[in-house]
Amino acid sequence: MDRCRVEVISQTPNPQQTMYAAMHQDYSENFVVDERSEWPDEVKAGETIVKRLLAGERGHYGPLEHPQIVLNCGFFPHSVMQQARTHRVGISFDVQSMRYTGSRVMEIAEGKRDVEDIFYLRPVGDYRDRQGKRYHYSEEQRQRDLAWCLEAARGYAADLEAGWSEEHARGKLPFDYRQHFVISLNVRSFMHFLDLRSKKDAQLEIQQLCDLMWPHFQAWVPAIADWYETTRLHKARLSP
Ligand SMILES: Cc1cc2nc3c(=O)[nH]c(=O)nc-3n(C[C@H](O)[C@H](O)[C@H](O)COP(=O)(O)OP(=O)(O)OC[C@H]3O[C@@H](n4cnc5c(N)ncnc54)[C@H](O)[C@@H]3O)c2cc1C
Repeated sequence: MDRCRVEVISQTPNPQQTMYAAMHQDYSENFVVDERSEWPDEVKAGETIVKRLLAGERGHYGPLEHPQIVLNCGFFPHSVMQQARTHRVGISFDVQSMRYTGSRVMEIAEGKRDVEDIFYLRPVGDYRDRQGKRYHYSEEQRQRDLAWCLEAARGYAADLEAGWSEEHARGKLPFDYRQHFVISLNVRSFMHFLDLRSKKDAQLEIQQLCDLMWPHFQAWVPAIADWYETTRLHKARLSP
C-alpha cells in the first residue's frame, strides 16, 4: 500500500466556528452572522460543540453537516473505490473511470512503468479467509501474479492498438488496478465513513484509506477528532 496517498484539495477554513454558528442559530433570537465578532475562536468553538452536541451520546449531529473537506485519494486498488462508493449520504465522489484513461496501462506494456504503479497485489504475508482459516501469500506466488498483470497490460495494449475502445479493453484487466478519486465529506459523514470502514473486519486496503484520511481530519477539526478517537474510532459503532 506504500503508493497510496490522500491529500487535501480544499476544506472549510473555520470548521469548528461554522458548526458553532449553526448550533448557535438554533437557539438564538438574533441573526447570528451579525454577532460574528462575538463567536468563540476555533479552539473554544470546538470545545463548546463537543460539550453541547456530542458528549454523553447526545447525538445532535446536524450542525456537523455544514463544514466540508475535499480529498484527493490516489493509487488505491479498484476494490477500495468500489467499497467507498457504497456510501451515499453526505459523500460525493469523482473517479477515474478507465473509459477516458488507459495510457498508464500502455506504459507498462511498453516497459516504461513498474507494474505495481498500476496494479495492486497484497504484500507477501499471512492472511485468513472469511472463516478464519490461515494461508500464506508467498513471494513466489506474488511474482507469478505480477507476471500475469504484465501479460494483461500487454493484452490491453494490443486491444487498443487493434482499435478497441478503453471501456471495452478494461474488462480484461486484473480487478485491482489502481485508481485515483476525489471524495468530499462533511464532518458527520467523515465519522460515519470511519465507523464503517476503519473497523477491523473491513478490508485491509480500505482501512488503509481511513488511516491516511484520519490525520487530515485531526488537523481540520481537532476537538471533534479527539472526541471521536476516544468514543468511536475502531469500535465498530454502526449507524442505524
Ligand atoms: C465491512 C463491510 C462489508 C460490506 N460488504 C458488502 C458487500 O459484500 N456487498 C455490498 O453490496 N455491500 C457491502 N457493504 C456495504 C453496505 O451494505 C452498505 O451499502 C454501505 O455500508 C453503505 O451503508 P451506510 O450505512 O454507510 O449508508 P450511507 O449511504 O453512507 O448512508 C448513511 C446513513 O444514512 C441512512 N440511509 C442512507 N440511505 C438510506 C435509505 N435508502 N433508507 C434509509 N436510510 C438510509 C442510514 O442511516 C445510513 O447508515 C459492506 C459494508 C461494510 C462496512
